[in-house]
Amino acid sequence: MSEMQLETALDTLKKTGVRITPQRHAILEYLIEAMSHPTADEIYKSLESKFPNMSVATVYNNLRVFKESGLVQELTYGDNASRFDFVTSKHYHTICQSCGKIVDFHYPGLDEIEHFASHVTGFKINSHRLEIYGVCPECQEEQSQ
Ligand SMILES: [Zn+2]
Ligand SMILES: [Zn+2]
Repeated sequence: MSEMQLETALDTLKKTGVRITPQRHAILEYLIEAMSHPTADEIYKSLESKFPNMSVATVYNNLRVFKESGLVQELTYGDNASRFDFVTSKHYHTICQSCGKIVDFHYPGLDEIEHFASHVTGFKINSHRLEIYGVCPECQEEQSQ
């Protein structure tokens, strides 16, 4: 499954004329496999042994390229570092208020809210973002001890 996602992603890059360097390949692979919505810093730390010449700035630049190609989504939270999410299909996020972990979930049918928002405000709606806040199972466990 993730193999196929990687292939499709590489195809998309090729079609948009983006050169596929070993670093880009590795960053994409990490994003697809991690599923953890990593920050650029986390990606950098996990790949620095493989690419000693790579800097955090390089990771950022590559993430920006992926973002422009529509492969990744940047999630910003106030002054915290941006997190990056490989775009598979539309999904929503639950966020742990204790450790900051972001977990994906799929829920159908919220397109209605876009129609409603458009109707009420006259906006041409492009997208929406829904986030659910709480405490993840691991943190619940820790807190109950
Ligand atoms: Zn947690
Ligand atoms: Zn996500």
